[in-house]
Amino acid sequence: MTDFSKNLKNKLLFPFVAPPNGGKGTQTQILSERYHLPTFDMGSTFRAIMKEGKDPELKAELESYMNNGKLVPIKTVVKVFQKGLEALAADHSEAKGFILDGFPRNQEQADALLELCQHWEAELSKAIYLNVSLDIVKARATGRRFCSENARHVYNVNDECLAPKQQKISPDGSIATDQQGRAIGLCDIDQAELIVRTDDEPQTVEKRLAEYQKETNPLIEHLQEKGYLAEINGEQAPEKVTLAIESLIQPILGLSTAS
Ligand SMILES: [Zn+2]
Repeated sequence: MTDFSKNLKNKLLFPFVAPPNGGKGTQTQILSERYHLPTFDMGSTFRAIMKEGKDPELKAELESYMNNGKLVPIKTVVKVFQKGLEALAADHSEAKGFILDGFPRNQEQADALLELCQHWEAELSKAIYLNVSLDIVKARATGRRFCSENARHVYNVNDECLAPKQQKISPDGSIATDQQGRAIGLCDIDQAELIVRTDDEPQTVEKRLAEYQKETNPLIEHLQEKGYLAEINGEQAPEKVTLAIESLIQPILGLSTAS
């Protein structure tokens, strides 16, 4: 068996923590490209195992818990992370480090990460926490509307710049509404009706945010106590968020800060 653990020696790890719809995807994509820091994404790694059969042994282990309605234990979650990141590192030996998306998600996982860093002789740099108030992320999620003809046409009724320009009009001349009493917008491009995805329904969003808070609040405190937390104001314009993260990571990467 190939020992992949040495692939992470002296690599820098940048975990990102943010609420759902907190702008993490946008930021990690920009930074990953600009600084050649490949992103390890826990969600897609998990899907690659379960759906694409990337690691049958690990899939069977995960299924043994999930099919019995049990929570996947920490050691298995850590195994998914470890194998996935080691494989990514094997493919990117030239990278100075890696962005971590979706790991650690809680305090237990953060401790596991610190242990792994010792094992790998990798360096956990600051965890980048995009602080966005839950009211804002809730508005972003519940305001999202997708074109029923082309899912790439995305709008947001809670954001002036992204709101659709037209609403559907009922035969009686009033603005047409959906079952929840929300005005039905029309796509600016093809005039198709705009729809709300199940994931963006208020009760679903509330539930997701409650779960996030329950796990993340202790994680944030824990990272702070250990000196690993770098908090960024995630409510600024995306370009400003990027700049704030860049001025934090450039010195860590040994680059001089752009003035
Ligand atoms: Zn459209």
